[in-house]
Amino acid sequence: MPIENIPLAAVLGSPISHSKSPTLYNYWFKKYSIRGHYIPIDVDPSNLNQILRVMPKMGFVGANVTIPHKEIVLTIADQISDRAAVIGAANTLSFTKAGKIFADNTDGEGFIENLRHHYPSWNPKEGPAIVLGAGGASRAVVSALLQNSTPEIWIANRTRARAEKMTSDFGARLRVIDWYAVSKFISEAATLVNATSLGMIGKPKLQIDLRPLSKKTLVSDLVYAPLETDLLLFAKNKGCRTVNGIGMLIHQAMPGFSRWFGTKPAIDHEIKNLLLA
Ligand code: NAP
Repeated sequence: MPIENIPLAAVLGSPISHSKSPTLYNYWFKKYSIRGHYIPIDVDPSNLNQILRVMPKMGFVGANVTIPHKEIVLTIADQISDRAAVIGAANTLSFTKAGKIFADNTDGEGFIENLRHHYPSWNPKEGPAIVLGAGGASRAVVSALLQNSTPEIWIANRTRARAEKMTSDFGARLRVIDWYAVSKFISEAATLVNATSLGMIGKPKLQIDLRPLSKKTLVSDLVYAPLETDLLLFAKNKGCRTVNGIGMLIHQAMPGFSRWFGTKPAIDHEIKNLLLA
């Protein structure tokens, strides 16, 4: 009798023990009675190419990549999605039977889907968005907002040159605003996103004067530890719609799971609690 191949997937990074992806995948395998395995693998950057080439032959159907491989993997992949190319990083790799690697970035999709999940009436076209930060997460958010027809995006980053680089990468709908002048613009934002690591446990606080914030603004923080950051607390007290970062973490993993295992998972409270435990 032939041995049934159980599809395998993995998350590659270094270090990797902190990754929440195995918890997510194992929860979905159980919830949907899917036969599959998902494992964390600590990979030194010098071995990444060799390991990715052998994984399809071992029965892996795909892999997530995280720090420090998200950018370098674009030089290894055989095919790259448009959004991964413009962001300059990938987080989701799919392997063909012939061993080819397709690199995609689902962070921006995860961001948008999370907002839509919480506020189906949220309209990205409604007005300008302010995005704080110019790192990998900011690039993914900006790419997705542009894709969803946000008319203008104002970027503020401590290191201004990094924000300016984004205007040349993403085009005319982006404008750099000074990190220390954000509060002057805040009342005009339809959407405000913290895509910096500020406000996260162990990191400095986000020190921006939020008093001009309008209650019409939707405020989202990519940080999910703590779940309710000072930014979200202030915005909630002001009457704004607020969205924390935990849902984005789940939504960015959903395209990989459905591509590799053929089932689109749904969001539920149990998985949020498991991830926060
Ligand atoms: P990154 O590439 O390292 O970028 C970090 C950003 O934070 C940069 O814009 C950096 O500004 C800014 N920053 C760091 N320390 C600062 C300080 N003391 N003052 C002012 N700005 C500071 O990181 P990333 O991958 O973009 O991630 C950013 C955040 O998003 C992290 O908290 C991460 O956990 C979160 N995230 C969440 C999800 C999710 O699914 N919820 C997904 C991705 C990322 P400079 O350029 O000046 O250094």
